[in-house]
Amino acid sequence: MRTLSREQLSARRESVVEALTSPDLAAIVDLVVWAEAEAEAEAEIGDQRGDGPVAMAASYIGRVRLHADGRHQVLQGLDPILSQDPMAFLPYNRECASPGPRTSRENSYPYAASRILSLFADSTRSPDVAVMHTPRHFFAEQGGHVGEHGSLDVIQSRAPLLLSGRGVTTLGVVDAHARLVDVCPTLAALAGVAETDLRDAAGEPLDGHTLMTYLCGETVVEPKVIGILWDGAPCGDLLHLAESGELPGVARLLDAGVALRGGAVAQFPSVTLTNHTSILTGLGPGRHGVLGNVFYDRGTGLRVVANDAATWHRSAEWLRPSVRTVFEMVNGDVPHRGSMRTACVNEAVDRGADYSTMAIIRGSGISSGAAGLGERLPDADTSIHLSDPADLQDSYYSWGTQVDDLGLEQMRQLWGSLESAPTLTWWASVVTDAGHHAGGPRSAIARDSLRDSDSRLMAFLEHLDGLGVTDEVTFLLTADHGFEGSDPTVIGSWRPALERLGIPFRDEGPGLIYLMADHEQT
Ligand SMILES: [Zn+2]
Repeated sequence: MRTLSREQLSARRESVVEALTSPDLAAIVDLVVWAEAEAEAEAEIGDQRGDGPVAMAASYIGRVRLHADGRHQVLQGLDPILSQDPMAFLPYNRECASPGPRTSRENSYPYAASRILSLFADSTRSPDVAVMHTPRHFFAEQGGHVGEHGSLDVIQSRAPLLLSGRGVTTLGVVDAHARLVDVCPTLAALAGVAETDLRDAAGEPLDGHTLMTYLCGETVVEPKVIGILWDGAPCGDLLHLAESGELPGVARLLDAGVALRGGAVAQFPSVTLTNHTSILTGLGPGRHGVLGNVFYDRGTGLRVVANDAATWHRSAEWLRPSVRTVFEMVNGDVPHRGSMRTACVNEAVDRGADYSTMAIIRGSGISSGAAGLGERLPDADTSIHLSDPADLQDSYYSWGTQVDDLGLEQMRQLWGSLESAPTLTWWASVVTDAGHHAGGPRSAIARDSLRDSDSRLMAFLEHLDGLGVTDEVTFLLTADHGFEGSDPTVIGSWRPALERLGIPFRDEGPGLIYLMADHEQT
């Protein structure tokens, strides 16, 4: 547990914020964010209106306090968060027109207050300060890539959201947005869960809402719902390629449904495991407990590496007690009589699913999880869904090709007939994340990864056509975050600036800063 006093914490956090917002780090540090207790904020300004913690954001140009009711209180200099428009840089040609915003005042940070506050709401796992890379920061020496995500900003937080098929109104692309926490309640409601049962395990309402406005109101007696996640597929390029005929599978879904031009806003940080968990629980990180791909838990003194091929099958260990997964919501308390109601393909967050790839890995006794599957996976070189064999030179892409081919195989097996198919099937694919990390959005390898995934989607739709059941199915297609391209000339690390302070700290991610007492291990 924490051993720093509140005063020590406050003073140390202030030095950290000052160091990180120094103008000489402006090229790599976009924003520094943290949360303050209401009492801290009130003592300073005599503000009686607050009714909970407030979110703070600072950069080298100034500092702002963001209240949950939307008020911006500029405390110093200029407001570093000028826009929170979730529809910023739309239509898509605006996003493509420039290499990306250079300053936070040119950028947009949707739902900034609520997303920052959620990151700081966990009792033992929240950091004390979170640092955001500028979109252009290239940090290969710390695990960064040509294409990156993780920021609070709109492009890295914008995942696609498309609904299609049975019960969905055919609207095409509409100028609207949703949030990724809306996916869980939407899938659960489509699969027949009553509105009153869309709650967490403690009975509290979810953070998300159902997207019933896009449904035509048809009562489906025996619903069959398929949720599809293409990891890191950016909303803008996905819709652009679908509309220009390059992704016939997505285009087919779009012809029978609706996609939101503003996509679905990820939780912060816009990283994989935090958002897979938000998508499948309807909760932000402060409630589900997966604070990042890597985070520190003061309660156990352990560093948790949640997003790793070697640990995905252990995801249930990180979930907080109040979490219910969408699989648990759909399965409910009613006995199944042996039928399979929920299935979860190639997804870490699988607790409660009747069929799960990760459960098979847990049962196999391979201690290194999916990382140890090795030769059990299909050969990437012979994949019929590969656009360009040269992409396999990227080892992550090659592994993603193998895993995704196996995912399609599982989907075909789960869908032997309409009657035997699960009520809710969740199908995650990974190669899109590999393609976008390797080349950045709109690069040849990134677009290949979208085409490869579309080829698998088409193969599955043709399988359903063969069964004559495609029209009986409701589809939801999404991702866990967006992507922005970095600039290989913008390099450096904020670590030396923190080390110069002489304050013990941990930096997980990097970006989640935990301030430690002098005797604690860092
Ligand atoms: Zn991801």
